[in-house]
Amino acid sequence: MKRRLSVLSAALILLLCSCAPAQTEPASASDTFFAMDTVMSITVYGDMGTQAIQDARSEIQRLESLLSRTDADSQVSQINLHAGDGTWVTVDADLSELLARAQSITELLPGSFDITIAPVMDAWGFTKEEQHVPTQQMLDTAMDLVDSQQLLVDTDASAARLEASGMEIDLGAIAKGFAAGQAQQVIRSTGAESAMLDLGGNVTVIGSKPDGSAWRVAVKDPQNTSEYLCVLTLEDVTASTSGGYERYFEEDGVRYHHIIDPKTGYPADSGLLSVTVVSADPILADALSTALFIEGTDAALDFWRSRDDFELVLCQADGTVLITEGLENGLQTREDTYGYTYEIARR
Ligand code: ADP
Ligand code: MG
Repeated sequence: MKRRLSVLSAALILLLCSCAPAQTEPASASDTFFAMDTVMSITVYGDMGTQAIQDARSEIQRLESLLSRTDADSQVSQINLHAGDGTWVTVDADLSELLARAQSITELLPGSFDITIAPVMDAWGFTKEEQHVPTQQMLDTAMDLVDSQQLLVDTDASAARLEASGMEIDLGAIAKGFAAGQAQQVIRSTGAESAMLDLGGNVTVIGSKPDGSAWRVAVKDPQNTSEYLCVLTLEDVTASTSGGYERYFEEDGVRYHHIIDPKTGYPADSGLLSVTVVSADPILADALSTALFIEGTDAALDFWRSRDDFELVLCQADGTVLITEGLENGLQTREDTYGYTYEIARR
C-alpha cells in the first residue's frame, strides 16, 4: 500500500513541478527505485544528472545496509543483538552521529520521539506481515524496554550500546531524512545545482528549477492521497510529511497506524491527520514530522515559536489546516470544496 501511495505522490509532485514548455528542454535524468522499504525517486537537471543519480543511489544503499533493523547484517542489528550484554558495538561515524542526533531530538521533545520504540513496533506487528492489537500485557512488557537514556552513544569512539536485554533501535522516523541529507551532498558534489529527491514522503529540493523559479512541492491530502492539500514554493529545503495514513491496519473497524505515542504504546491520537515539516536540515524535518504528529497542534506551534529552523503544515482532523507564516509566500491552497479551511499561524 505504501508503495502505491508513494508512486502517486511522486507522480503528483512531478506533475505539479513540470515547468512550462521551454524552447530547449534542459538535460535531466530521473530514476525511481525501491529502498528503505519505500519508493524513492530522484530527478537531477544538468549534464551530470545520470552520474549524480547513480552516486546518490549507491549512497542510499550504503546507508540502508547500515541502518536497517530487518537486515541482520546491518550495524543497527549488531547494536540490537548485543543489547544488555555490555558490549560497545563499534559503528561507522555516520551512524554514531545519527544516534546522537536522535538522542538530542528526544531531549527536545521528551515522551514523543524515541528511537528505542522498536519493541512496541514489534508488539503491534508493524515489522511483520501480520499486524494486530497487542494485549495490554504484551504492550507493558514492550513499553518497559523503551528508554533512550539506556542507549549509550560514544561519538568519539564511534560506538553504541543498549543497556537492557530486549531493547532495540528503530530508525524508521529519521533514516530517510538522514539519507536525504547524504544523497543531497553527493548530488551537489557532482556540480548539479537543480534537483528534486522524493525519498518516500521526504521531498528534498536542491536549488531552483532549471528555469530559475522555485520548486513547487505538493503536500498530500491525508484523507485522499491522490489529491493535494496545498502546494508549497520551496528552494534548498526538505519537506517531510508524517501521517497516520502512511502505514496502518484495521481491526474491528478501527484503524491503527504506525506512529506510536511512547506515553501510551498506542498509535498517536493528537487530533492531527498529518504534519509536514520544512527545514534546511533534512534530519530535523524527518524526525520532527514524526514527533510533532505525536505532540499535536498546540505543542507543535509552541515548539515552532521557540525556534527558527523549520516551518509547518498541520492538517487537523477537524479540517483546519494550519500553515506557519514562513510558508506563506507562493502558497497554493485548494479553492474547491474539500472541506478544509486554511489558517496562517504567526509567531
Ligand atoms: P514514514 O517513515 O512512514 O514516512 P515517519 O517518518 O513518521 O513515517 O516514521 C514512522 C516510523 O518511525 C515508524 O514506522 C517507526 O519505525 C518509527 N516510529 C514510530 N513511532 C515512533 C516514535 N514515537 N519515535 C521514534 N520513532 C518512531
Ligand atoms: Mg519522520
